[in-house]
Amino acid sequence: MINKIIENLIQGNRRFESGSITPIQYTQEDFLSFDKEQHPSVAVLTCSDSRLSPNIVFDQKLGELFVIQNAGAFLDDTTAASLSFAVEVLKCSTVIVMGHTHCGAVSAAHAHTIPTTTLASPVHQIERVIGSSESVTKAVATWTDYTYQKTCDLSFIKENNVVVAQAIYDIGSGHVDFIQDM
Ligand SMILES: [Zn+2]
Repeated sequence: MINKIIENLIQGNRRFESGSITPIQYTQEDFLSFDKEQHPSVAVLTCSDSRLSPNIVFDQKLGELFVIQNAGAFLDDTTAASLSFAVEVLKCSTVIVMGHTHCGAVSAAHAHTIPTTTLASPVHQIERVIGSSESVTKAVATWTDYTYQKTCDLSFIKENNVVVAQAIYDIGSGHVDFIQDM
């Protein structure tokens, strides 16, 4: 479901990918307001990849996005706790689950390799979800959809009527593709 908040992110991404991002200057007043409180309307769960910064790819200022990033964009207990803070305390009404092309964690799972010992368990979890995907691109789509469905099933997401959307960020073009429900 595309609401006004997501439409705003789509517009911001169009500015970003076309090289016309909004010149951002922060004033003392901005910092004074940041010092007191925050009012993001949307939370973004995505990967830690250094080529992906939600505030930049959606052309949003500080204070506008509540961002949760970890390698592979996992929805584990810690991530769910962060999301619950965004929804139940900060009153974010929308959550974006965003995978990306060339994701190292998904690529490792697709190739059945383990980058580090500590990453073994998460990578095996991705392997189980993606099965025998024919390509990394397909595997990223499957993994992102899985995380999206899990996010939709969280009790506080349902109880607060939060809009959840899934998207794939294309590292090579800067484009964010929002995936519509079937
Ligand atoms: Zn990644």
